[in-house]
Amino acid sequence: MGINVTRSSMPPLEDYINEISDLWNSRWLTNGGMKYQEFETQLTEYLMVSKASLFSNGHLALETVLQAFNLSGEVITTPFTFASTTHAIVRNKLTPIFCDIDPFDFTMDVTKIENLITEKTTAIVPVHVYGNICDMNKIQKIADKYNLKVIYDAAHTFGMKVNGRGIGDFGDASMFSFHATKVFNSIEGGVVTYKKSQIKESLDAIKNFGISGEDEVEYIGTNAKMNEFQAAMGLCNLKYINEEIRKRKIVYERYKERLSHIKGIRIRVDQPNVENNYAYFPIILDDYIYHRDELLAKLKQNNIIARKYFYPLTSNFECYKGLFKNSITPIAEQIANNVLTLPLYSDLSLNDVDHICDLIIE
Ligand SMILES: *Cc1c(COP(=O)(O)O)cnc(C)c1O
Repeated sequence: MGINVTRSSMPPLEDYINEISDLWNSRWLTNGGMKYQEFETQLTEYLMVSKASLFSNGHLALETVLQAFNLSGEVITTPFTFASTTHAIVRNKLTPIFCDIDPFDFTMDVTKIENLITEKTTAIVPVHVYGNICDMNKIQKIADKYNLKVIYDAAHTFGMKVNGRGIGDFGDASMFSFHATKVFNSIEGGVVTYKKSQIKESLDAIKNFGISGEDEVEYIGTNAKMNEFQAAMGLCNLKYINEEIRKRKIVYERYKERLSHIKGIRIRVDQPNVENNYAYFPIILDDYIYHRDELLAKLKQNNIIARKYFYPLTSNFECYKGLFKNSITPIAEQIANNVLTLPLYSDLSLNDVDHICDLIIE
């Protein structure tokens, strides 16, 4: 049996059966039913945010919140992310302007944002990549100075807190993903968290075809509603989330202990005052005896699946060739060429972690 890069966490089957049995009585399967309402309420509390709106997946959550803010022109973002971030911007007919990243935490390099701002800029879309929190103070200062919206792709940071404050409470809005491969899942799913009720109406309408009243369609909407079975799965998994994170921490700490002092390998630096969720364990092979791709192949020969997460940069995607101004993001290029994300899930045994580390250290 091989070791995959991730493995979905599942609640006990009886929990899920219990949770969904109501649905056989109500026959209300989607469109904001009981489970949806309950999940939204519980999440608002767990994430420590004032508002939350559920979606069928994280990507449509991000795409919809960008539409809800009615943005136009240019959006400053990072190319070192999953395809979703950039696609959400482009599918809203906005132009992504790629900002380089910090060499140590891989989030947007805040010293390089202001140079990219033009009179067309309307928003910043940063990513808390691998659970590394962006420099949110600096980003907010810049946003305030130029009157820009800040929408975080917080897909990697479910349940995280900074100085005791929910990560989804910063900026104008944040998107979390509940995809099966994430720390927390509702099979597929996502949420937008936001502060003021200003976008509530549009968010809720856009995810339901833009329907805003009985005889009224105010927005060019989509269909991005979370269904009752997803919400039920979310409710079940939410009961075990603290345990899930605690177990991940043990795996994470073992990697850290084993790989901290290996020549040519750089690991993540823990950030002060941040409550982590231990979602990913990326390593950077700066000056290692093998190239990243060789190590990836060696692990694969041993039935261990690591990932070149994130490679290539979204700005280098085939579909974006020639579309946008060539941006210069040398640090992002360098990290994308040398990063490898190791297997991490809550029931990965320490023996397996040791085996993986032995292969890397060997
Ligand atoms: C997973 C992910 C998404 C998309 O979320 P889905 O729920 O899979 O649609 C967006 N951004 C980042 C950084 C992600 O990792």
